Amino acid sequence: MSLKIYNSLTNKIEEFIPANKNEVNMYVCGPTVYNYIHIGNARPVIFFDMFKNYLTFKGIKVNYASNITDVDDKIINKALERNVTEKEITDEYEKAYFEDCARLGSNRPDFVPHATEYISEMQNFIQELIDKGFAYSNDGDVYFRIDKLNEYGILSNQNKDELEKGVRIDVSDKKENPLDFTLWKKTSKGIQWNSPFGKGRPGWHTECVCMINKIFNHKEIDVHGGGMDLKFPHHENEIAQANALYHNHLARYWMHVGRVNLGKEKMSKSLGNVIWVHDFAESDFMPYRLLIIASPYRNSIDFTEDLLNQYRKMYDKFNRAYKQACLLADVNNVKNDAINEDEKAKFIEFMDNDLNTANALTLANDILKVINTSVRSKDYNLALVEANTLKMIFDVFGVRLSYNALSDEDKQIYKNWEDAKSVKDFELADKYRNMLSEKGII
Ligand SMILES: [Zn+2]
Repeated sequence: MSLKIYNSLTNKIEEFIPANKNEVNMYVCGPTVYNYIHIGNARPVIFFDMFKNYLTFKGIKVNYASNITDVDDKIINKALERNVTEKEITDEYEKAYFEDCARLGSNRPDFVPHATEYISEMQNFIQELIDKGFAYSNDGDVYFRIDKLNEYGILSNQNKDELEKGVRIDVSDKKENPLDFTLWKKTSKGIQWNSPFGKGRPGWHTECVCMINKIFNHKEIDVHGGGMDLKFPHHENEIAQANALYHNHLARYWMHVGRVNLGKEKMSKSLGNVIWVHDFAESDFMPYRLLIIASPYRNSIDFTEDLLNQYRKMYDKFNRAYKQACLLADVNNVKNDAINEDEKAKFIEFMDNDLNTANALTLANDILKVINTSVRSKDYNLALVEANTLKMIFDVFGVRLSYNALSDEDKQIYKNWEDAKSVKDFELADKYRNMLSEKGII
């Protein structure tokens, strides 16, 4: 069976066929770096990292790009507020962002373009849109002319009239149509660049399109991803620009991950009801990742402390079983790199079905039970094979399970402990137990 995913562009589950058979070009909208990321921002960071892991696991090479938006009004305002340069703000929060990503178990993408490094590409792109009648400038601002495009609204699945009614749009008499969006913005404060259209800075929707074009050589990419909240207007407007100049949808598959609510409430930086990833205790990063991975990716999650607590316990349970199986195999000199092929096939079947991680986690739970029963029956070979299989699944999830092989000396202490217990010399057993515990082995 081959991989099927839900394509937000067609609203259908489709067979996933990249343009080049064993290679996938993927772009995911990254953060605007003026603050830390909250637990909702972390969801696409975790999900698309896992998706890359899974494609890699299937033998597909993934070229993964995710940008840093380092020019924006929010950045400019924060810099003015603190009386520092924008660069100081963006450097600080970009660093914090990648620290948070690493602690969440997400690898750095293969390409991390910064918007400010693509200004000349953006200006050329905007000029081309103007030349072809898809954009117009008015008093130093440049807008995209959506009325020139027949297909506007394809991602939101709504026509222009419905979109106009349904969305709050800043009404400006500079625009021909209220849905026209900014490609170049005239600014008087903060960082700005000279351009044929006047001094200013690029609009957010243009940044992503130009970075994708440059990195992937103007080819329609395979996957464009992001949070559900970016569907409209950001992604709709990215598609509009690609449609105007290249007659394509920028990406063949659009994937969107659901929101994380705080309880039932929408999280919002402006309302102040957010949980920052930065404030997590070190021990909570992996449980949170497991929580995100286990939840069906297109649904929203109502986050509560109780929910996180369930995943703390679950992660601990998996980690302990894995460690114990490896330890007992190690001490008893059982060596085996094999995995359970039937379980691997099941895992692939679940994941190929639009990344059904919930079923994959149920499978992991079944494996956990086998580990525990085989440990009890002292079948350390079986326990080890199942532990290897569990590790294979968790490696794709990006959720860390770790075991450090014991030194010969430590193995001997472990054996002494077992021997003391078997002859019921509890005093001696306690002594060895303490030694092992002090070394962090048990
Ligand atoms: Zn974007």
